[in-house]
Amino acid sequence: MSQHIVVAECRDGQLRRVSLEAIAAARGCMKDGDRLAAVLLRAGDGEADAVAEALAQHGTDEVIVVDHPILGRYAPEVHLAALLEAARALAPEARWWLGHTAIGRDLAPRLAARLGAGQVSDALAAARGADGRIVFTRALHAGKALERRALLVDAPSVVTVRPNNFAPAVADSGATAAPIRSVPFTPPQSRIFVRDIVRRASGAVDLAEARIIVAGGRGVKSSAGFKPLAELAALLGGAVGASRGACDAGYCDYALQIGQTGKTVTPDLYIACGISGAVQHLAGMSRSRVIVAINKDPDAPIFSVADYGIVGDLFEVIPALIKELAAT
Ligand code: FAD
Repeated sequence: MSQHIVVAECRDGQLRRVSLEAIAAARGCMKDGDRLAAVLLRAGDGEADAVAEALAQHGTDEVIVVDHPILGRYAPEVHLAALLEAARALAPEARWWLGHTAIGRDLAPRLAARLGAGQVSDALAAARGADGRIVFTRALHAGKALERRALLVDAPSVVTVRPNNFAPAVADSGATAAPIRSVPFTPPQSRIFVRDIVRRASGAVDLAEARIIVAGGRGVKSSAGFKPLAELAALLGGAVGASRGACDAGYCDYALQIGQTGKTVTPDLYIACGISGAVQHLAGMSRSRVIVAINKDPDAPIFSVADYGIVGDLFEVIPALIKELAAT
């Protein structure tokens, strides 16, 4: 019997989708008799009650809540100590699953080091092989190669899963909700304090978790040129992204950059507008489910990864798309 633990992550009081994906990833690798707990770190403001209840309905066997005002802001030492507290309450030799988010990426190696566990980062897929080992698939060399990595059977491990690669766990309203247990926590003396978090202005939809992305490149030609892309993204309920070419040209913020040195995204629909398709850009988006490319150069490399290609001027194609969508 193995204990699996998903570390749930919230943003603005809402459970992040990647946490449900991590639950599904863990469930997909569990054997009969294995147990799955979700750990929720919260700031004791009552806001996260709904989150704990949601976790209890999404295929977990138990929800562990570590509650302290200091957990309202991410501080590595404090959050790590809270997870270790949860580990003591569950099973230190458990298999841990986190989202490959900024916080997950920071916490996972710390947790693995403290637990003496093996670590796998940025898993795209996970499945239990015939020999009982869980085999993880990871991208190497900016996505040009895939690696399969297995951990020893029943050895402790810490895994981060790339957002948008696993179908999220769904709520089972017919099932009995998992019990929610609070674990007392006395925070350690931290050497790091987060004094303030200044939010970068960005769209309503988080780029890393967006199901639809409208991305612009140097072909968009100016920051004003991004406005129709933003309009199209808003109509589709998606987010705006960009190539490094567009960011370097000052058309948009580097927070929007997708690619080898930017964000890695795997939306259901990626619309590349005026992006040539350099290998460094493809590294961040080529695993999108459906790719639509709009480019006036029929030989642009982006068409080699596109499911649908539109050879044309984006300043004509995008307004036509907006008109069509607005009319439906
Ligand atoms: P361009 O290559 O200039 O392409 C512009 C495209 O727009 C052209 O295909 C053109 O035909 C088309 N176009 C022009 N006008 C129109 C119009 N009116 N309608 C339709 N199409 C039009 N790049 C990234 O994106 N992300 C990264 O993370 C990244 N990391 C890098 C890391 C390293 C180490 C290096 C060396 C490079 C990296 N790059 C990255 C840069 C990458 O090599 C390319 O330079 C960059 O992706 C090009 O951006 P682009 O496609 O917007 O511009």
